[in-house]
Parts: sequence; structure tokens; C-alpha cells
Amino acid sequence: LLLVEDDQMLAAGIKQGLATAGYMVDIVESAEAALDAMTSDSFDAAIIDIGLPQMTGLELTERMRQRGQTMPVLMLTARDALQDRVQGLDAGADDYMVKPFDLPELLARLRALLRRSQAATTSVLTLGPLSIDTAARQVLVNDQNLDVGPREWTVLQYLMLHAPKPVSKEKLLQS
Ligand code: CA
Repeated sequence: LLLVEDDQMLAAGIKQGLATAGYMVDIVESAEAALDAMTSDSFDAAIIDIGLPQMTGLELTERMRQRGQTMPVLMLTARDALQDRVQGLDAGADDYMVKPFDLPELLARLRALLRRSQAATTSVLTLGPLSIDTAARQVLVNDQNLDVGPREWTVLQYLMLHAPKPVSKEKLLQS
């Protein structure tokens, strides 16, 4: 993960929390440094503070999107200002959090972002011991191939795409 935050204390705290949850985190303190980091390394997601020195988090996100950078962006805003949140999403952020925030919520939002981007870029969906390859139409349980019929496949795929949310019987029948 790339964390773009000029408040060193806060950045260190967030990094520690993310590291405890198993993420590898690089911290940069400016938008310029973030753009540099993105050209030499690839990241699964970026957490970007809106209030950065010189180039703001908004401009950074806009630049990234203009460059075709599609990684999920979680924006941190200091104020509970509607304008900031609207501008953040318009600039290309996928989600935002208002400071101060609780770490468990940051982790949950991050997991959701990563899950969505993973589903969009790979054809393999994984849930515990179960994984399905939507391109190859293959189902694996603990890496063992499992034969499923066409109807079972359709149901399984629909459930996997929506996991961990429950799916109503009506929705399932409709699909
Ligand atoms: Ca800041």
C-alpha cells in the first residue's frame, strides 16, 4: 500500500496498524513523492491525505487518473466538509474517511476496495478454501478440482461475486 500523508505521527500510526493487519506500507509525505513512487513501484491501493503541502491530495488523484493509474484510492479528509468529500470522489477517489477515524473502519474500507479491484482485474475469486475462475469456469476447493453443473456454476458465481454479503432468494432467482 502507498500511504501519502505529511503528518508524520499520524502516518506512523496508520502504518503500524496496517502492518499489524498484514499489509506492507510505504509512506511518502508529498504528492510529488507519491508520483515518483508509483513510477518505480506498483501498489495495490493508495491512501491519500487531501491536505498535502504544495500539490493537494485532490490534484494527486486527478493526475493519477489522467495517467491511467487505476489503483483504488482511499482519501483522508481532515474536515467533515461535504465539499471535500464530493471533490475527492469527483477527482477519482474510490472512498474517503474523515479524520479522526478508527483503524478497524479504515481496514474494513480498505478490504472492500481491494476486493472490488481484485474482482475487476482477475478472473479468480477466492473465499477461504474455495476459489472459482470465472474465465475458465473452474471451481477449486483446497486446490482440488470440483465438477459442478451449469446451474450450480451460475449460483456459485453469483454468490461469490457478492460475498460476504448475503443474497436474497429473489435476487438469485432473477439472475
Ligand atoms: Ca495533511
